[in-house]
Amino acid sequence: MEIKETVCKAYDVVVVGGGIGGVAAAVAAAREGASVLLVEKLINLGGLATEGLISWYEPICDGAGTQMIAGIGEELIKLAASVGFDSLPEKWGGGTCTPNRRGAYASHFSPTFFSLALDKWVQEAGVELLFDSRATYPKMEGNRCVGVIVENVSGTELYPAKVVIDATGDATVMHRAGVPCLLGENYLAYVTHGFTYESAKTYAEDGNLRVFRKWKNAGSDLWGNGHPEGRALFGGVDAREVTEFITVGKARTLSYYEETDKNGREIMTLPTIPQFRKVRHIVGKTTFDGTEDGKNCADSIGTTGDFRFPGKHFAIPYSTLYHEEFPNMLAAGRIISAHGEGWEITRVIPVCALTGEAAGVAAAMAAKEKTPDVTALSVEALQQKLRDKGVMFNNSFFTE
Ligand SMILES: Cc1cc2nc3c(=O)[nH]c(=O)nc-3n(C[C@H](O)[C@H](O)[C@H](O)COP(=O)(O)OP(=O)(O)OC[C@H]3O[C@@H](n4cnc5c(N)ncnc54)[C@H](O)[C@@H]3O)c2cc1C
Repeated sequence: MEIKETVCKAYDVVVVGGGIGGVAAAVAAAREGASVLLVEKLINLGGLATEGLISWYEPICDGAGTQMIAGIGEELIKLAASVGFDSLPEKWGGGTCTPNRRGAYASHFSPTFFSLALDKWVQEAGVELLFDSRATYPKMEGNRCVGVIVENVSGTELYPAKVVIDATGDATVMHRAGVPCLLGENYLAYVTHGFTYESAKTYAEDGNLRVFRKWKNAGSDLWGNGHPEGRALFGGVDAREVTEFITVGKARTLSYYEETDKNGREIMTLPTIPQFRKVRHIVGKTTFDGTEDGKNCADSIGTTGDFRFPGKHFAIPYSTLYHEEFPNMLAAGRIISAHGEGWEITRVIPVCALTGEAAGVAAAMAAKEKTPDVTALSVEALQQKLRDKGVMFNNSFFTE
């Protein structure tokens, strides 16, 4: 049987992947007036942050009192805190819940309510959603991506696009388009959320929902066994290895709970996405390697701290979002061109929002041109648009 793609509606911008990078990109592009389709293989938005049960929004400040990320990165932490429990300190707009111990502009959040709120948030911006739909391949004409092939219950569909944003978390689309990529390595992780009789009692006494919803990671040392002894670190681009990563985590989770009173605990949510931190990132025009503390870059799209070390300041280059030979493709979220320490700094939720917002604005700008070219945009015009949206450039921290 010959499989033929059904050619569907064309969009200015097609975003693949509805994690934090993807939702930020889709909303940013739609707010710039672009027609936007957001394709998500699951049926909920948020990616690792919600379906992967990560539920801790790393700081949007530098950990030493100064805010580094605003724009959509700040909008999303506020959105999460507005619909479910939070741990924002009073200084950063909290005050109704138990603040996080670090005093940072960071917060725990409810993955379920945040995900529900994201649906409303993207649709209010005018983004069209396509759930339960897996983007399989980019449709290429030379190095130009003319659309995205999607597999879903309707069959095999082609969505033509002027600009395509890959926010898949593993660079599936850009990798298959031929963009050079590098692979990551991962310790075992299998995070579930549950409650115990004890956590329910604490909640009944002090009303702290965060303590009630307990985070358990079957790959963490705290669990008692950590990464499987003798097992090399996991990749994330081989289906059998992905399956092993998931089944080992599940088996450990079950055996842990089998030792406990079955009437004294419940798992509320299992993850529906493999919890790899680093799968694959593009090799872009430039690569952010995390040694740029305090150094500005001419094509900055905003700033961040380092969630691990207070007082650090980084500017993220626009040229980490694209490869110069692929004129209408952009990366967003944890697949941008960032390596080593740079990958650690940029893969967390707030920085995925930052790169997503920049990718979305850039895509919408490029889509207005007869022959869209994200590599030839006026960086000054992009920066001005981002500045107008409140994105922080924190120039006082940087030497040129
Ligand atoms: C164990 C662990 C702990 C972490 N802890 C923290 C933390 O405490 N705080 C923090 O801020 N960050 C943390 N992170 C990092 C952070 O959660 C993620 O890096 C970030 O959420 C990634 O966002 P993203 O949008 O780039 O990718 P993802 O969240 O992976 O989103 C990608 C989306 O694309 C979809 N998709 C993929 N392929 C396709 C396709 N072919 N077609 C259609 N849809 C597709 C996926 O279903 C998913 O929704 C942690 C990560 C892990 C794994």
